[in-house]
Amino acid sequence: MMANEAKILVVDDKKENLLSLELILSGLNYSLVKAQSGREALKVLMKEQDFALILLDVYMPMLDGFETAELIRQSEKLKHIPIIFITANIFTQDNLFKGYKAGAVDYIFKPVDPVILRAKVGALVELYLKNYELISQGQSLKILNERLKQRTEELEKINKELEKFAYVASHDLQEPLRTITSYIQLLQYKFKDSLDDEANEFMDFVVKASGRMRNIILDLLQYSRINRDNKPFEAVDCNLVLKDVLENLNNSIKDSKSVIISDVLPVIYGDYLQMVQLFQNLIGNALKFKSQEREPRIVITSRETDGGFCLFSIEDNGIGIDQKYAGKIFEIFQRLHPVDEYPGTGIGLAICMKIVERHGGKIWMTSEVRKGSTFYFTAKMNAVDTSVVSKEEILMSR
Ligand code: ADP
Repeated sequence: MMANEAKILVVDDKKENLLSLELILSGLNYSLVKAQSGREALKVLMKEQDFALILLDVYMPMLDGFETAELIRQSEKLKHIPIIFITANIFTQDNLFKGYKAGAVDYIFKPVDPVILRAKVGALVELYLKNYELISQGQSLKILNERLKQRTEELEKINKELEKFAYVASHDLQEPLRTITSYIQLLQYKFKDSLDDEANEFMDFVVKASGRMRNIILDLLQYSRINRDNKPFEAVDCNLVLKDVLENLNNSIKDSKSVIISDVLPVIYGDYLQMVQLFQNLIGNALKFKSQEREPRIVITSRETDGGFCLFSIEDNGIGIDQKYAGKIFEIFQRLHPVDEYPGTGIGLAICMKIVERHGGKIWMTSEVRKGSTFYFTAKMNAVDTSVVSKEEILMSR
């Protein structure tokens, strides 16, 4: 059916009535299907259900209009089609009610007034077409949604496979690498004096390269473990997280004479160890990418935002990056600075992103070259603030 051409089923036992209805409705972009008895109408409706309207004569031999309507109403596929009964103008209240119960939406009395018939048919057909449009839009939306769901499932599956691959590869690479490293070190130790300078230099390269490879493998392993064998979420006091991180980074904080200032942090709902990883990667980077021109100063803030979330920021006064790379650096293996100047694997921020996403939050950064960078991330707050650390304690520990 064309979207603007509605099908109408006209049922009357008298041919001349059918013809007159056809005449009144001609030229109005309707496609009329005629039936001369209730039974014939039902036969048509068994084959085609896309009628916008049924015009049904009440008095017909055998199966009258009411009985036909009742049978139509019993079918799931047909019961939505509106019915207008056409009847002689001798209708009692009882009969009117019977018709409505059988599914009539309206009546037209004989002799049929062409203006009234066209108006009533027009209104119902318009309603049908609007409905039809809505239904088809709904269906396309449903199909689109279904496709989206399928695609998401496929992507999740691919992601899981990649994670598994990264996990297995990095896990299994550890053993041969350990062997290589130990034998190289042994060679270096045993033959240092019998090898010339150039050979010793080559040996140094190998040792350094295997060290870098070890770091990459360990980071990859960490990355692929984020969604594996996890502990359930719990209340995580970020003040304790920060305390642990500052202890872990104690040497580089002291060496660089860094000043670290922090708000009293909230208790979030998450994974303690992953929060340590997240804070440690971000603060570790702030220390690593420090400027030579000034002493490092790292400021950590947090504030509550909408929907029970908390926004954290970690600001440094380091070398900064061009803002146009702000998205790129969260991709795995993406680095903007050479390894010999700033050691690293390019996996740290990808780990941060995965951790934040696992916690239902977002992570991003803003930066200015030679001025510094600020990393932001959001995390869900724990329903109850269970912090056991007082502000004084936190300040004293820094
Ligand atoms: P890595 O630190 O091992 O190189 P990351 O994934 O942690 O890997 O960081 C990716 C890159 O983003 C870094 O190599 C660096 O170029 C840039 N970067 C990250 N943090 C900072 C920062 N605080 N200041 C300037 N650049 C940064």
